[in-house]
Amino acid sequence: MKTIKDVFLSFRQSLAGVYDTLETEVIALLVLEEITGISRAKLKAFPEDTIPGEASEKIEGILIELKTGKPVQYILGHTEFYGLNFLVNPATLIPRPETEELVEWILQSKKLVPNSQKPVYVLDIGTGSGCIAISLKKNLPDAVVTAIDISADALHTAKQNAVINGAEVTFIEQDILESRELKSESKNFDIIVSNPPYVTLQDKLLMHKNVTGFEPHSALFVPEHNPLIFYEAIADFAIQHLSKNGLLFLEINENFGKETIELLSDKYFINIELRKDMSGRDRMIKAVKAS
Ligand code: GLN
Repeated sequence: MKTIKDVFLSFRQSLAGVYDTLETEVIALLVLEEITGISRAKLKAFPEDTIPGEASEKIEGILIELKTGKPVQYILGHTEFYGLNFLVNPATLIPRPETEELVEWILQSKKLVPNSQKPVYVLDIGTGSGCIAISLKKNLPDAVVTAIDISADALHTAKQNAVINGAEVTFIEQDILESRELKSESKNFDIIVSNPPYVTLQDKLLMHKNVTGFEPHSALFVPEHNPLIFYEAIADFAIQHLSKNGLLFLEINENFGKETIELLSDKYFINIELRKDMSGRDRMIKAVKAS
C-alpha cells in the first residue's frame, strides 16, 4: 500500500520538467483530494496514511496523462471559479484567476448602474465555460443574464454549468465578428463584459505547452494583422447594445492597454479605467458608454 507521501514523491519524479515544484504540489493535492476524498488539509497533515490500491491505480493513470502536459482541469473535467464548480473540456478555456478579478470589479461596480430598481441586464461575449455569466448571475440573482459564444460545443458545456450551479442564463450561438446585431430579445444591456481571444503569435512563443497544446485556439489567439480585432467588434457591438451610461468590462492583453483605451475612446466610450491583475499586469478595462 502506498502512503500519501509516496504519491507526492511519484508526482515530483514524474512531472519534473513539466511543472515546477509548487505547481506539482498544487496538482498532486487536487488529484489526491478528488480521487481519495480526503481533504487537502488532511492530506498535508497525515503524509504517512496509506491510500487504497484502487485509488493508487487511478492516480497512476492520471499521472500518465499529466506527463503529456494535459492540464489537470481537463483530466478531472472540472475546476473552481469564483467559489463555484465548472465543467471544463478542450472546447472551453480553463477559467483563470485574473478573470475572477474582473468579475469582482463588476460586482463592486454594480451600484454605479443607473435605475437600480430595475433588474440589471448583463451580456457576456465569448462566454466559453460560462464562468463569468454564471458567477454574475449567482451574485446578482435579479439580473437578466445573456451569454454568447461562437462555439456550439462551448455553449453545450456552459449550459450544463448553468444547470449545475442553478443559474438562469440565456445562451446564444453567435460570431461577434460576423454580425454586430444580437440574435436575442434583450437588446439593451446595463453591463457588457468580455474576455475575448487576445494572445498574439509572439505571446504564444512564451506560453506553456499545456496551454498552447491543449486549450482551444479559437478562445486564445488573434490574427497577427489585427490583434485588437475582437475589441473593435465588441466596442461596436457595445455601442449599439449598451443602455445610456451602460458599462463595458474587458479582459485585455497586458501589452495593449494603451491601444485598447485609444480604440474605446475613438468609439465614444468615456471614463475609461485600466486595472492591473494580481501579477501587476495591465489586465482589465472598464468604460462607460457616452450618452
Ligand atoms: N489569460 C489567458 C492566458 O494567458 C488568455 C485568455 C484570452 O485570450 N482571453 O492563457
